[in-house]
Amino acid sequence: LGEITAKSKDPYPDWKKGDPVPYAALCKTFSLIELTTKRLEIMAHCSKFLRQVLRLTPDDLLPTVLLMINKLAPDYAGIELGIGESLIMKAIGETTGRSLQIIKQDQKEIGDLGLVAVKSRSTQPTMFKPKPLTVRGVHKGLMGVATVMGNGAQGRKVDGIKKLLSAADSNSTGKVDITKDKGGPSEAKYLIRFLEGKLRLGLAERTVLVSLAQAVVNHEAALKGQAASPSDVEKAEAMLKTVYSELPSYDVIIPTMVEHGIMNLRDHCKLKPGVPLKPMLAKPTKAITEVLDRFENQTFTCEYKYDGERAQIHYVAKTADEELSQSLPGATKEAGDGVANIFSRNSEDLSKKYPDILAKLHTWVKHDTQSFVLDCETVAWDMTEKKVLPFQQLMTRKRKDVKVEDVKVKVCVFAFDLLYLNGVPLVKKSLRERRELLTRAFVPVEGEFALATHMNGQELEQIQEFLDESVKASCEGLMVKMLDGDESGYEPSKRSRNWLKIKKDYLSGVGDSLDLVVLGAYHGKGKRTSVYGAFLLACYNPSSETYETVCNIGTGFSEAVLEELHKQLSAIVIDRPKPFYSHSAGGQHQPDVWFEPRFVWEVKTADLTLSPRYKAGCKEGVDPSGEKGISLRFPRFIKVRDDKKPDEATSSRQVAEMYRKQEAVTKNKGPAVDDDF
Ligand code: ATP
Repeated sequence: LGEITAKSKDPYPDWKKGDPVPYAALCKTFSLIELTTKRLEIMAHCSKFLRQVLRLTPDDLLPTVLLMINKLAPDYAGIELGIGESLIMKAIGETTGRSLQIIKQDQKEIGDLGLVAVKSRSTQPTMFKPKPLTVRGVHKGLMGVATVMGNGAQGRKVDGIKKLLSAADSNSTGKVDITKDKGGPSEAKYLIRFLEGKLRLGLAERTVLVSLAQAVVNHEAALKGQAASPSDVEKAEAMLKTVYSELPSYDVIIPTMVEHGIMNLRDHCKLKPGVPLKPMLAKPTKAITEVLDRFENQTFTCEYKYDGERAQIHYVAKTADEELSQSLPGATKEAGDGVANIFSRNSEDLSKKYPDILAKLHTWVKHDTQSFVLDCETVAWDMTEKKVLPFQQLMTRKRKDVKVEDVKVKVCVFAFDLLYLNGVPLVKKSLRERRELLTRAFVPVEGEFALATHMNGQELEQIQEFLDESVKASCEGLMVKMLDGDESGYEPSKRSRNWLKIKKDYLSGVGDSLDLVVLGAYHGKGKRTSVYGAFLLACYNPSSETYETVCNIGTGFSEAVLEELHKQLSAIVIDRPKPFYSHSAGGQHQPDVWFEPRFVWEVKTADLTLSPRYKAGCKEGVDPSGEKGISLRFPRFIKVRDDKKPDEATSSRQVAEMYRKQEAVTKNKGPAVDDDF
């Protein structure tokens, strides 16, 4: 790998110190990454480029990293491109003077809009040479496209894309052969892929993070005329990973790191109200005995698992430190004597959905509680019966611009963790300590705010009894958590074995439901002719950035739901599957229509089986021949998961893990049935 760094000459001799980073230089790196599948090589290309940015144009480090991870801003900023295939095709056509019909034809043949753009550009006569694109210019241009609103927004989005596309590849020397080298380092290709939301380089966000740490530590050592030792590199990687998990915002971290040095990051960047953390997640289990095996000789605690919506509440009292109160994002709402924000599981701003919580929040905060970050579940609440209502009730609430006086479904907030209190991050403290602080800082208010019901008994019978109680109290089951010691710290963004979930419906089944992406549909038959009657679903493989098909589903839908889904899905029909869909090609198993990957559905299954029709987990080695994927048996639709983005769907690895666990338990099962379709 040293070779990559040493041998390859600087391909951009014109890029001088202080110049904006040429977009072509970034695309060159992308194309090198695209040609390999080896993670270490990918990392070496990535960190080499970031080092060059640090050396020549450190001010552009932030937009460079953002373009590498296919993002324009942190998730909580709520900035999304939201561009469908048809707008992109329109922009390609208008930029290159080719008709939409021809573009569509090309798309049918090539199946990759990035390459369609390359092909279109290489036939375009160049009248004048526009100024070459820069990384900061592309970031700004795309930001403009993402944030256009109001009348004629679609048209202005197309104009924004055209502006970028017409300047793309203005410094390329010759035609690119799209069949030979995957389109080469074409800027148009990567611009289009960015717009589609998938660069498909095999460059996971975590790899960029590690490469960034390597680049910075090596750059800092070089400034001192030294070389970074392996242990320096390891420490730098650990530092950046920890800081990013507590404060997932490159906008804050990168400028601080450039100014103060990577090993000083922790002193300057800490968890703080206003920047939502990625929540800690749990591993599924299928039996109480499995839980007992895991926590053998450790103390653990059980909590009710409430069935609502995860919410992270950030609050700063007006009397608190001024810097803190200004740190909450623009959408901050007044909350009694303070300002607050509510974030969803995937860091979306939920403040407009829950003005009723914001209005009451100050009444459950003790007067000496100045600032906090709370992890909790909002649950629909029956005011007369004084009990928890099923999730379906919560679903009927409007998602945006809710007015307190119009709220019909009341919610109660059940808090289960405290991550920050009065200026101090708590994630490293034990759960027992965090729980104690939580109990001291808040006052329960019936039907509005409560701490999650818990029980610290360690015996099987006690857990069984508590599970039964939780079900009677309309909960989904239990969460079992490590209570003491280092392992009981809060692990942001991690699916940890220190948190286990026991769902009542999955005891002795597969352990959990799956959250899957809808890729296609089949026209309905009989009573269902005006709607889609069945759907093709997929899980997500983050390392290959592909959606792998896992089942067809036609069960669990009411007529009304089918109509609603038809309305939603017919707006995102595409002519052919995206190149990043992994499905069995041809034959009778093709769906009648394909969709953009946008919606995530929660699905229950009887169990998992191997099938040549599906691709889930193909790369996880579940089938020695590598031909069969995992599929769901008797899948059943439960609900739409609005709080998950497609790339947060159940991963191929999780599906494979579930399959292996099930195999270990049920070695001598009967013959497999494909699915219920
Ligand atoms: P994933 O499937 O990715 O784990 P999910 O959102 O589908 O996530 P579940 O499998 O249902 O989640 O289990 C974890 C979720 O349970 C949490 O994200 C949270 O919303 C909810 N929850 C309810 N009660 C608790 C509790 N006491 N402690 C932690 N989480 C709880």
